[in-house]
Amino acid sequence: METAKSAQLFAAAKQYIPGGVNSPVRACRSVGCDPVFIERAKGVHIWDVDGNEYLDFVCSWGPMILGHANPLILKAITEAAAQGTSFGASTPREIELASMVVDAVPSVEKVRFVNSGTEATMSAIRLARGYTGKKVVVKFDGCYHGHADSFLVKAGSGLITLGIPGSPGVPEDIVKNTVSIPYNNPEVLEKTLRDPALDIACVIIEPVAGNMGCVPPAEGFLALLRQLTSELGIVLIFDEVITGFRLAYGGAQQYFGITPDLTCLGKIIGGGLPVGAYGGKAEIMNCIAPDGPVYQAGTLSGNPLAMAAGIATLKQLQQDNFYDELNSKSAEFAATLSEIAERTGIPVTLNRVGSLMTGFFTSEPVTDFDSAMLADTKRYACHYQQMLASGINVAPSQFEVMFVSAAHSAKDLGKAAEMTEWSFKKMS
Ligand code: PLP
Repeated sequence: METAKSAQLFAAAKQYIPGGVNSPVRACRSVGCDPVFIERAKGVHIWDVDGNEYLDFVCSWGPMILGHANPLILKAITEAAAQGTSFGASTPREIELASMVVDAVPSVEKVRFVNSGTEATMSAIRLARGYTGKKVVVKFDGCYHGHADSFLVKAGSGLITLGIPGSPGVPEDIVKNTVSIPYNNPEVLEKTLRDPALDIACVIIEPVAGNMGCVPPAEGFLALLRQLTSELGIVLIFDEVITGFRLAYGGAQQYFGITPDLTCLGKIIGGGLPVGAYGGKAEIMNCIAPDGPVYQAGTLSGNPLAMAAGIATLKQLQQDNFYDELNSKSAEFAATLSEIAERTGIPVTLNRVGSLMTGFFTSEPVTDFDSAMLADTKRYACHYQQMLASGINVAPSQFEVMFVSAAHSAKDLGKAAEMTEWSFKKMS
């Protein structure tokens, strides 16, 4: 595979951008190679600057549920752009997208748009603290909620990939108000939430963890979490930045039938443009300025292009059977991958919920951060490099998910399975 132009660009990028990237996982360090630079994408394919074509399963880390450069989204963005790109004032499109989110997501009565998932989670915990007058945020080991200070405690995603436990620059005073506990452990959960010494404002969770690889919630875990938080007057926040409009039109809360008090969204609702949102019960949301005292603002929030892209995306997700088809083809694909692993003798634990999946290179069940850490990352690096060389773009980290989109055809999934078999055979 010729990658001379990418290599040249990476050298240039490193002169001007720390590590040559604007988000750490993109540097591909944990998979032992330099990144390729992308020139364009269409449907399920992306092309790098050297002209190599890849079948894409990163899908921009989730937003591209309809594939890349979807014509209806491009049309909506172009039409919006022709009317001006930002006004710093209210527009009709904000109401249209807000009403679509409120109609779709069971627990959301009001929603505020921001510019990223990080802003959504950061604002949601501020709101939960303002609403309850309490301080402590409980999160789960290996869950990632963006890079705001309060979340950089045993976080997933790029931090696990790079082996960083937290981050210098985050003051102790802030971190001491974050308690991180194991995912899927009901005893520790109950003990922590009932601890009278903790002044708990909220619990934030990825209802399906996606940032230590895909880890589904154990049977009854989310129900217990809902029951305890309701009983104890703790605000329950679902971080649905990945799962929102991904597992079902109403997200993980519809998929599992469990509703939080606040929900954080991002990725899909921006159709590939920078967007985040947080929403929930009107009683809590009304505490946000200007109606309430909890401050949150944004120059580009509710940006007209992003709103247009979000509306055009959500309209396409409303098609009959959209999620049944996406989830069932993903289930079939996952079953094929598991069967390939068995046949080639490579130990793989394949976790999947809807169209999110991770094949962990371990024979042990993966149910939390500690078990995810048992995966063989050297083997993943080898698999990643082989897949890329054979034209399949998977996440450059063992601890991320593979995203299947509506645009992936049976033929595309067949090709990815074929290349996976080739890669596994080379490693066996
Ligand atoms: N929450 C979850 C579950 C995420 O996966 C991410 C990013 O991947 C975020 C929050 C942060 O979103 P953003 O990268 O848009 O700031």
